[in-house]
Amino acid sequence: MDAKCAHHPDAVADGGTCERCGTYICAACAVAGSAPAICRPCLRLLSSGRHIKHARVLSILMMVHGGLLLATGAYYVLFGGFMFDAMMDIPVGDDADELAEQLPGMLMGMFTFIGLSHVLPGVLQGLAGWMLLRHRGIRLAWAAAAMGLLSLFGCYCSPTALALAAYAVFVLTRDDVKARFAVVLPPAS
Ligand SMILES: [Zn+2]
Ligand SMILES: [Zn+2]
Repeated sequence: MDAKCAHHPDAVADGGTCERCGTYICAACAVAGSAPAICRPCLRLLSSGRHIKHARVLSILMMVHGGLLLATGAYYVLFGGFMFDAMMDIPVGDDADELAEQLPGMLMGMFTFIGLSHVLPGVLQGLAGWMLLRHRGIRLAWAAAAMGLLSLFGCYCSPTALALAAYAVFVLTRDDVKARFAVVLPPAS
């Protein structure tokens, strides 16, 4: 006798077994393409965890914050460039000291560094937020939250980057969130 689906006593368990709850399931009960292979009731259970909504909020906040970081970083780089341009217009006398000659380049380098310390985590957070929203991965979210702290070199985004990192730690360490993210679904779903 063939094994029957745990949820449909009339259906043959042609969907194999659920790797989470271990019951026999029919093809209709199997979540197609999921890794590990799980059943629909398990997916519902995993998706209804207490902190799953927080993961969604975190993913959106991360994308918004990534965008802000990117804009701030671009502003720093542009500002540094304008500053360099403007300072190069100041005529340098013969008796100018070396520091005065190097100052524009040094300032531009500093602004570029501060700018990049916003742009890079900005791009990463935007990407990580999107992947988090699609349940594509939790590791990148960790990296993005940590890298956001790079913006502490600048003065605009640091409180928000700290808050975001703290929120990420809270959300990403919840057991129900970790359990949900342990299951990867095919892109279509
Ligand atoms: Zn199951
Ligand atoms: Zn079934």
